[in-house]
Amino acid sequence: MNKQKLVILGSTGSIGTQTLDIVRQHRDKFGITALTANSNWELLAQQIDEFNPRYAVIRDESCYKQLKAAAGQTHILAGFDQITSVATLDEADIILNSLVGYAGFESTYEAIKADKKVALANKESLVVGGELIQKALQHSEGELLPVDSEHSAMLQCLAGESVDDIEKIVITASGGPFREFTKKQMEAVTVEQALNHPNWDMGAKVTIDSSTMMNKGLEIIEAHWLFNIPVEKIEPVIHPQSIIHSMVTFRDGSSKAQLGLPDMKVPITYALGYPERLDLETPRIDWAQPHTWTFEPVDYNRFPCLRLAMDSIIEGGFAPAVLNAANEVAVKRFLNEEISYIDIPKIIDLSLKHVDSNQTISVHTLKEIDEETRKYALSIK
Ligand code: MG
Repeated sequence: MNKQKLVILGSTGSIGTQTLDIVRQHRDKFGITALTANSNWELLAQQIDEFNPRYAVIRDESCYKQLKAAAGQTHILAGFDQITSVATLDEADIILNSLVGYAGFESTYEAIKADKKVALANKESLVVGGELIQKALQHSEGELLPVDSEHSAMLQCLAGESVDDIEKIVITASGGPFREFTKKQMEAVTVEQALNHPNWDMGAKVTIDSSTMMNKGLEIIEAHWLFNIPVEKIEPVIHPQSIIHSMVTFRDGSSKAQLGLPDMKVPITYALGYPERLDLETPRIDWAQPHTWTFEPVDYNRFPCLRLAMDSIIEGGFAPAVLNAANEVAVKRFLNEEISYIDIPKIIDLSLKHVDSNQTISVHTLKEIDEETRKYALSIK
């Protein structure tokens, strides 16, 4: 493949730094056109020094001066709108979007409209704007590739298959740190406990979402849009070892699974190289050793966020956008110790009941619903 020019949105986060590790292993295949960060200007300055991008964006404008002073030849931009502008740069081939939350939607949407290949680690893009993004893809020469272990597994299982032959997608979930907690124990969960995930090392928002299983709910919505599969055909299953990243069962009863150690570099590499496979120096499963992998059904009673997410996509319209906004607010309030752990699903449920809209979905109306939901979710005592 020709050398691909890469824009990384969120280059100082967990996915962003791992993507740069992969670029280090493939300097002949990838160059960096732009990097963006929220406020970690020191790390961004180091990345600029090493990868020499044409542009770098710091979202927090108060960090502009420090970054500018440290940046050499790179054009330094500041503010949220500049993130969208580097996501549509003419010279860019691949946009890796690892922004957190609804903030990532606009970049995904605009990059698709600009015919880019988007490697999507921002799951909220599809949760909130799946319908708009799918429509944009129909008129775009760009493509959308998942950077999430489950969706990458599905894509790998579907290579050479027809979507019409899918009987069921089995999406695996680790179950998070509270898999064996009783409802009573959940009432006393602390921020520290919730931030301690057994298998995956991720940012705070995703880690909390994993512990409530909202993460799995968001991923089901994402899979629905990515593969055009009704939610009834997507079945979540607990698989605590996180080795099988997802499975697809076909109409003839055969199932395919994709396996590997829990390592985000694998799905990142698959998305960057797609449809080719690239070398990756990363630990392998030792098949000569004994292994035990287990599966259990999910418990919607102890993990109500999962059910709320699945219901929201069945309801359709703005419901997934409301779910997402309420969840973002509730997670933030929990991290700030303003609410207890079990209030997270309560706030989402109340928001879904409160916010109602008959408007047509557009970028503008999504934003209005998002803002209205946030206001409401913040006001819940
Ligand atoms: Mg995942």
